[in-house]
Formats: sequence, structure tokens, C-alpha cells
Amino acid sequence: MIKLSQPQIPESAISRVGDILRSGQLVHGEECLAFEKELAEYLGAKHVLVVSNGTAALHVALLSLGVGQGDAVIVPDFTFTATANIVEMTGAKAVIVDVESSSYNMCPKLLEERIVSWQGPEKLKAIMPVLEFGNPKNLKLYRAIADKYNLKLIEDAACALGASDGDAKVGTVGDFGCFSFHPRKTLTTGEGGAIVTNDDTLHKKAMLFRNHGMERSDKGIEFKSIGLNYRLTNFQAAIGRAILPELNDWITKRRALANRYTDLLSPIVAQGLITLPNIVDGHSVQTYMIVLSQRFERIEVIKALRAKKVESNLGAQSMSSLNLFNHSRNIENSFVEGSYLYTHGLALPLHEGMSNDDVEFVVNELSVALYGL
Ligand SMILES: *Cc1c(COP(=O)(O)O)cnc(C)c1O
Repeated sequence: MIKLSQPQIPESAISRVGDILRSGQLVHGEECLAFEKELAEYLGAKHVLVVSNGTAALHVALLSLGVGQGDAVIVPDFTFTATANIVEMTGAKAVIVDVESSSYNMCPKLLEERIVSWQGPEKLKAIMPVLEFGNPKNLKLYRAIADKYNLKLIEDAACALGASDGDAKVGTVGDFGCFSFHPRKTLTTGEGGAIVTNDDTLHKKAMLFRNHGMERSDKGIEFKSIGLNYRLTNFQAAIGRAILPELNDWITKRRALANRYTDLLSPIVAQGLITLPNIVDGHSVQTYMIVLSQRFERIEVIKALRAKKVESNLGAQSMSSLNLFNHSRNIENSFVEGSYLYTHGLALPLHEGMSNDDVEFVVNELSVALYGL
């Protein structure tokens, strides 16, 4: 089976995890602090906090910005449900904006229209765009729009570690940047995540929310606020630390495989059967998702590929299609692009363990399947 994705865990990580398990220093400690420092260096960011998963990262970012009941946060239609879920879990409303068919990221024009036409009753407080599948497109534009309308910017960069928009690393442009280290992401710690900020005050707030509002000082432990337990463990941090030095090479490899897909798939594109993702500069290619033409039922394509030992799947969800966020802020709008990507997007295998021959095999089987259906 050519798998959709395959977590790569270096042997050095496995032996380091063994050392940590034997040491008894299991929860947040030296290894987490070292990982935070290395991530901050890698990103060129002032502060990084590692947390238990990407959803926790988003939650802490929202709480630290004071988002809650009576507020609204704009999210893209096409993303993993965590993006909209976590906004509503704070008591705020998730306001959905459609995405671009080319980048799969939130459409800046529709975003600005939604902000300008906003009539409440909630206070529009933040925008939370997703850098979908590692595509950095529009990031600086989102910043400019947030600044223009005095809104906060949280990057849901969960699947975009290592991507960059020009000179800016994804995760460092928002008031907060949030990453996930789930096994479907390029750098994994099993479960895990990180919050990035260049703001000292926000960093301090986030640190308190992560760990029961607790602060250690010379006087001992003080409880400064209410909080949660979203700590990462030392042995998870060790896995991340072993992968981080490999990350840029892995992304280079992914980009080469993606470019190979793009070349080999072009005859099928010319037939009007599929469209391809736009692998722009700085894209970290966490997923390579093509889009099937209207004539195909995606499940039939997935089954045909599976019969040839090629795993494929849908790419992400459409928030408006899930019927979980059907409050008045969303129902008057249509979400043509996001809902189409949800039903016709097809993620193809992509991971560091793949060869060019594997890509060729997938493309051959895909064209046989599409011409046969
Ligand atoms: C993976 C992902 C998340 C959730 O991350 P977890 O670590 O699974 O909690 C959130 N948003 C996006 C866009 C993601 O891809």
C-alpha cells in the first residue's frame, strides 16, 4: 500500500525517548524548554510555548486575546473542524468566509466584505485564517486587513510548520501562530502543538492558561489566573527535537515529489478531469490535494485507487456543510468553493518515504481510474 502519509521517527528520537522514560522526568521540563528555544530559533520568533495539541494551541491563543461570549471570530470554510469548533467552545461565534479555489485559503476579498458588512450583535474580534496544507498565500494580506480594521490575527498554521510568505515564516505574522504536531503533520510528536508570539504580554498570558494559571517564583508557586493543563511531555518534546533539524530537507523532498505529481498529472488536467494545487514559493506541502471534476463521485475514485493499493482521502471539511455552525451569522451566505473542495478534493499520498517511482505509480493508477469511471 502506498500510504497517504507515514510519520517518520528518527532512530535518535527513539533512543532519546527511552532515556527520558528511564529518567522519570516525564512531564513539562528541560526537554520542552529546549524544544521551545529551538523552535523559536527556527521560526525567528520571540516566544514559543509547546502544548498538548494544535487545538489546545488555538484555544490558548483565543483565551489569551480575551475571546469569549459576545465575540465573533472569522474562520475559513475549508479547514479541519477544530478551527471553527474551538472558537465556539470559547462561547464566541465562528463566522465563516469562503476560500479561494486556487490556494484553498480564505478569500481576502470576501473576508474584507464580511468585515465591512458586519452588523453584530457580537463584537468582531479576530480573524483566524488557515494556511491550508502549508500554503502561505495571503498571509501578509490577512495581517494588513486585520490591522486596517483593528482586529487580532491568529494563524491556524497547524499544518504549515516550515512554510513562509516571502521573508516571514508562517506562524510569526499573527498576534499568535498555532502549530500541530499530530502524525498527519510533517513534524510529529504523536500529539502535540506550539503557540508562537512576539508579544511579551500575550506570551505571559498564554503561559498561565497552559498550566493552571500557575507561576513559579522565589516565593514558591503562585496561582495568578484560572487555567488549563495543556502541557506537552518531555518525551514528546524529544521526538520533536530530533525531527526539527531534518524538517527543511523533508520539505524540500515533499516539494520535489509535489512538482513531480504536477508534471505527470498535466495530461489529465488538460482533459478537464482534475485541477491541481498551486505549489507556490514557500509552500510546505503537508498535503497534495487535487480536485476532481464534477462528473466524478470521489468515493468511486478512492475505491478504485484502494484496489490498486494506493491510499487516498478527502482533504478537509467545509464548515458550512457540517451543519454545526448554522447560526444567523452564516446561513445567509453561500460557500461555493469550500463546499466543492469538501466533496471533490482528493488528497494523494505524500511523505518523505516516497520515491519518484511511487508518484509515477499513483499517477498511472489515478489516470486508469479516472478514464475508466
Ligand atoms: C491538524 C489541524 C488542527 C488540529 O490539530 P490537533 O493537533 O489535531 O489538535 C487544527 N487546524 C488545522 C488546520 C489542522 O490541520
